[in-house]
Amino acid sequence: MKKGFSLVGIVLVVGLMITFLGSKEKSSIVEGEKKLVVLSTTAMISDIVEQVGGERIQAIVLIQGAIDPHSYELVKGDDEKIEGADLVFFNGLHLEHGASLQYKLSSHPYAISVGDYILSKYPDCILYEEGQLDPHIWMDISLWAKIIDPIVEALSLKDPEGKEYYEEKANLVRGKMLQFHLTLKEQLQKVPESRRYLVTSHDAFGYFTRSYLATEEDLIADTWRKRVAAPEGLAPDGQLGVMDLQKIVDYLAKYQIGVVFPESNVSRDSLKKIIFACKEKHLKIRFSQNPLYGDCMGATGSYLDMIEHNGSILVKEWECSP
Ligand SMILES: [Zn+2]
Repeated sequence: MKKGFSLVGIVLVVGLMITFLGSKEKSSIVEGEKKLVVLSTTAMISDIVEQVGGERIQAIVLIQGAIDPHSYELVKGDDEKIEGADLVFFNGLHLEHGASLQYKLSSHPYAISVGDYILSKYPDCILYEEGQLDPHIWMDISLWAKIIDPIVEALSLKDPEGKEYYEEKANLVRGKMLQFHLTLKEQLQKVPESRRYLVTSHDAFGYFTRSYLATEEDLIADTWRKRVAAPEGLAPDGQLGVMDLQKIVDYLAKYQIGVVFPESNVSRDSLKKIIFACKEKHLKIRFSQNPLYGDCMGATGSYLDMIEHNGSILVKEWECSP
């Protein structure tokens, strides 16, 4: 997505927030009465919404399981789910670019993009890959914690009596997330920096690499991107050319990397081709024993468990790397 399009996104979100501010409703949401129905496009968003909303809301996830959110198109029953929601949260930054879902999101009166909120409020935190916005903001826990504010704001506007409740919950969730952010960073920084080079299926780990794998020197010199590579771009794409694969083969050889990491929601085909090409060059490359979770939480059950899973897989594999 070009930057021009993202500005449209910001205008849309700001517009929605203004609409929102102008429509404060007297809420009758009290115990025993109807709960706010809050739909989130991804499980990573819904997990935070659920923790902040607690018993005052009914949280629903649209894209469940190991399904690619980038190209998700509506299936039977999705229209009703979205229309029936009091509030909708989506990632934005062009993550959900399936046309039918995009159209439905744009026509919901209370649809908030947490990514566009971060882009407008913290533009320096957002990454671009060849001019395109990188939507994988959940990969940096400290960045993902910033989505708590628009969630609290939106829930409180819909349910003013719950404002204090949401704020209290938000503080707990934020604290837990920021604490785990530090712990994860500490764990990964213990891996020798010569091994902290990550190859995955698609470009989902830019934010993760900047936060947890880069050295201080990398960040100061702005050279941290050398620590991450993927044959497929920001959205999984099976149509790869010889050059795309060769680039990764050269990268693996250059940094003497022994292991590549498939992702649970992406085909392994491109990585298999790379391993095969490496074999022909007498480079010994293997798959990690377990896949990483890039665009979905898989069976981990919670957002923090998902990120913890990724961290521990990396530590384990890099520890036994040659
Ligand atoms: Zn992705």
